[in-house]
Amino acid sequence: MNIKKLLIFASNLLRKIGIDSYEIDAKIILQQIMSWDRLTLELNKEQNIDLSACKEFFFLLRRRLAFEPIAYITNKKEFYGLDFFVKDCLIPRPDTECIVEYCIKNLAHKKEPLVLDICTGSGCIGLSIAYFVNDSKVVLSDINKKSLETAKKNADNLCLSKKTEFLLGDLFEPFSNIKADLIVSNPPYISNKEMLDLSIDIYDYEPHKALFSYDESGIYFYEKIIKQASKYMKPDAILVMEIGYSQEILIENIAKSYFDNIHFFKDLANNTRGVVLNKIKG
Ligand code: GLN
Repeated sequence: MNIKKLLIFASNLLRKIGIDSYEIDAKIILQQIMSWDRLTLELNKEQNIDLSACKEFFFLLRRRLAFEPIAYITNKKEFYGLDFFVKDCLIPRPDTECIVEYCIKNLAHKKEPLVLDICTGSGCIGLSIAYFVNDSKVVLSDINKKSLETAKKNADNLCLSKKTEFLLGDLFEPFSNIKADLIVSNPPYISNKEMLDLSIDIYDYEPHKALFSYDESGIYFYEKIIKQASKYMKPDAILVMEIGYSQEILIENIAKSYFDNIHFFKDLANNTRGVVLNKIKG
């Protein structure tokens, strides 16, 4: 079959079931099968595809037709300009890039900063920091063994193994006697109410443990992290967390008992997306 015709056929199927990115998704699946970049695909559109590649194409297309996210089909996602392997973890979101940006700016003047990334998932936050902050050391932790394997693989792929360490466990549980310059986390924060509004591609495919806090307002993990963090922070350290846009006041109410300085910042879509806490209460 001719590649151009195959792409039109696949795009139409994806469009009919309501996938907005139908054209690009069909192309990405084909690129994955052929190990082609975008340009190679454009230059070879008039070619015919052989039977085994065609079978593989339909196998992956069926997964997308069942609303599986393209990042799980290709095991790839770009984040902060870096390529991440994605398997058994949350898919890195562009919304999270503002958290990384904040951390990198904050660390610019620190000498050999030590950073902890709690609930690291793919490692996208901690590894981006390790990549862009020259003399940093980053310890990444997750409760999910498989996610941690993915994060380790990403560290290898990005040549960051020497600057990073990986610990398995719940929140601060795997850390002992460590004082960091910056603690960062994007913990699960989807509340019981919001859970019901999620689209199939998220609800059916992304790890629930990484998404849901299983409480009414999504603050369960923030409360735990805020209460424990000071033990692992140097006096001038900061705690940076990604938050949901409706959680600002709830988090402020918890944080003010533990920190004197509370500051929120917005993402590119102008939604409140991050909180920074410092000046531990004496
Ligand atoms: N830190 C990872 C991310 O931001 C994973 C977060 C999580 O599993 N809750 O994508």
